[in-house]
Amino acid sequence: MYDMIVVGGGPAGMTAALYALRNGKTVLVIEKTGFGGQITHSPKVENFPGSLSISGNELADKMLEQILAQGAEIEIEKVTAVRDEGKVKIVETEEGGAYEGRTVVLAAGVKHRMLGLEGEYELVGEGISFCAVCDGDFYSGQTVCVVGGGNSALQEAILLAEKCEKVVMLQDLPFYTGEQRLQDVLFAKENVKGFTNVKINRFLRNENGLAGVEIEDRTSGEKREIACDGLFEAIGLIPENEPFARLAALNSYGYFDSDERCLTGTEGVYVAGDCRSKGVRQLTTAVADGATAALAACRYLNEQ
Ligand SMILES: Cc1cc2nc3c(=O)[nH]c(=O)nc-3n(C[C@H](O)[C@H](O)[C@H](O)COP(=O)(O)OP(=O)(O)OC[C@H]3O[C@@H](n4cnc5c(N)ncnc54)[C@H](O)[C@@H]3O)c2cc1C
Repeated sequence: MYDMIVVGGGPAGMTAALYALRNGKTVLVIEKTGFGGQITHSPKVENFPGSLSISGNELADKMLEQILAQGAEIEIEKVTAVRDEGKVKIVETEEGGAYEGRTVVLAAGVKHRMLGLEGEYELVGEGISFCAVCDGDFYSGQTVCVVGGGNSALQEAILLAEKCEKVVMLQDLPFYTGEQRLQDVLFAKENVKGFTNVKINRFLRNENGLAGVEIEDRTSGEKREIACDGLFEAIGLIPENEPFARLAALNSYGYFDSDERCLTGTEGVYVAGDCRSKGVRQLTTAVADGATAALAACRYLNEQ
């Protein structure tokens, strides 16, 4: 039996493992695809303290190396359920595994909703981004499109308009769904243009990656090509929490509701990272959650 089982080998999960291991606990981290989570899609991270610029893959490798050196056990399996049997939690996987732990940290992160167009996945990091705070600086003085029309898309665009030469909003509905106040701020900027009621048909490419998009008016069918250096997709996040809904309360958006201590209503079960409701989803806040959740779990274990 492990002292702690971490579900998800992203930055939050690996940091939780690190803190528990350094407290002398035994830890198993179960990751379904590859260690590192979302950040492995980022070719350049420039806002994580301690390094001027590092690729997301390199950062993920360093985190993995660090927890392995501290004695973490790892499995590449997809967790399908966590059963709460009081002092013991059983973590079940699609591959047939059933691991026993005294505590569990849920750190399954989020997926960014994507447009579903051909070649999209390969363009992530080569022109397609999901985070203006993270990647906006790479498009300084250039033209970017922002896909979406909710508050997140409007906020991303406001930030990008400060540094980019031109920002083009692409919204599939005939109107923007985000707050009017944000719309006013955004469209008061001279370098912002918006198209509503349009769908994106395909990506245009050059040797560097993304070169633009072809859009189509949903009513008239008129098509046009828009050249851009970057495209920020802000059409929603999909938390990967459903299998664990019985262990921790999910809010109406599918995120775990927890307080700043990362506790859930189930004794011995903690949540960390992008999968919990919070205002800022970044590496720094994910690793902060990992540390907080692990230390709370260690306190709980020490009291048993
Ligand atoms: C393209 C891109 C660029 C970014 N750039 C930056 C940046 O420059 N700076 C910054 O601060 N932030 C950046 N971010 C955001 C940052 O990556 C996230 O905030 C951070 O990774 C969240 O960490 P996490 O561990 O909570 O979740 P995630 O990174 O989402 O990791 C969760 C892990 O859990 C695994 N998992 C999910 N379900 C299961 C299951 N059932 N069983 C087993 N494993 C499971 C997933 O496969 C994943 O590996 C970027 C994000 C993207 C997508």
